[in-house]
Amino acid sequence: MSAVELLAEIAGVGRDRARGGYSRHLFDRAEGELRTWFTERAGRLGLDVETDRNGNLWAWWGAPGPDALVTGSHLDSVPGGGAFDGPLGVVSALDAVETLQKEGFRPGKPLAVLVFAEEEGGRFGVPCLGSRLLTGSIDADRARALRDPDGGTLAEAAVRAGFDPVRFGRDEEALSRIGTFLELHVEQGRGLIDLGAPVAVGSTVIAHGRWRFSFTGQGNHAGATLMSDRHDPMIPAAEVVAAAHRIASRVEGARATVGRLVPKPGGTNVIASTVDVWLDARASGDDQVRPLVDEIAHVASEAAAAEGCVVKLAEESYGGSVAFDANLRDELTNFLGGAPELPTGAGHDAAILAPYARTGMLYVRNPTGISHAPEEFAEDEDVARGARALADVLRHLST
Ligand SMILES: [Zn+2]
Repeated sequence: MSAVELLAEIAGVGRDRARGGYSRHLFDRAEGELRTWFTERAGRLGLDVETDRNGNLWAWWGAPGPDALVTGSHLDSVPGGGAFDGPLGVVSALDAVETLQKEGFRPGKPLAVLVFAEEEGGRFGVPCLGSRLLTGSIDADRARALRDPDGGTLAEAAVRAGFDPVRFGRDEEALSRIGTFLELHVEQGRGLIDLGAPVAVGSTVIAHGRWRFSFTGQGNHAGATLMSDRHDPMIPAAEVVAAAHRIASRVEGARATVGRLVPKPGGTNVIASTVDVWLDARASGDDQVRPLVDEIAHVASEAAAAEGCVVKLAEESYGGSVAFDANLRDELTNFLGGAPELPTGAGHDAAILAPYARTGMLYVRNPTGISHAPEEFAEDEDVARGARALADVLRHLST
């Protein structure tokens, strides 16, 4: 089945009627359905599917082994996300394997399609959770205690989905098998539109992290409480939203976003007692992201004090800037006939794996330039081109 047909097959899974687009989150019903679908589809290609200790799915063409050539992406989404971010890399990998099989090719080294768990952090807040657990770059105890928006822990959700959370953590055996990891992904920006090219090779991922500001004030009645008597945590929260935009706009290439803000108890006629604000901040290097967050944190503490509130700041995740393997990049660029190289502002499992294996990325043109929203798109023709490029590259790298 082609990548386009495979995408069509899962088009109905995890649609979000409230937000639009898709909500497919770790261990929820839609994600479980996609795991079953992937296992079935990979099985039809004769691949052996196994789930590792951290919930990542591996489909092996041939016996698992060291120095394997691994390709894949993720099947989960952000809340209300698009159809391509993640699934495109998975369906392209399946398409590429089928193409190579039909051409009678037999890989000269172990080859696997890998599906990472909870890449978006859409349920438990930490992006690239599957690859962070696999590599040990998140502490397993910390991961098990992560909570979803309903207050349940990752450990509890794992048990309910039939996984053993005690086994979460760095997986030396699985990690040692990856010789090269190549992730194909829909482009999350306008680079390929501007260049007029369908496929690019990834060069770098900028430094990025997530921070949570928790403001505590005094919950009270919206009508009975005089303005002068309030300790409203929404006021410093609003200052953070505005400061993030203002401060990041002054730093070349930096991005700072508040995309999630939760007041409790959350009533129209209630002054909130607490407000949690999540800040996503990114810039080309650590030396830019850290001062950016420090400056926003300074605004937060001054604004909290002025309102008689208390603020706590927690770093939920951080990843420094990553340059993908230079030799692999050159090889991919040359092999794909001088495909352009593009940096990205989006985080990926390939960046988490970069210190442990030779990693690279391919991007497929997104004609809307929009991602993490239902408008995210790729033309059928470009999807086919991406899958073909991946097949050619896998053939080249495994001989
Ligand atoms: Zn993605």
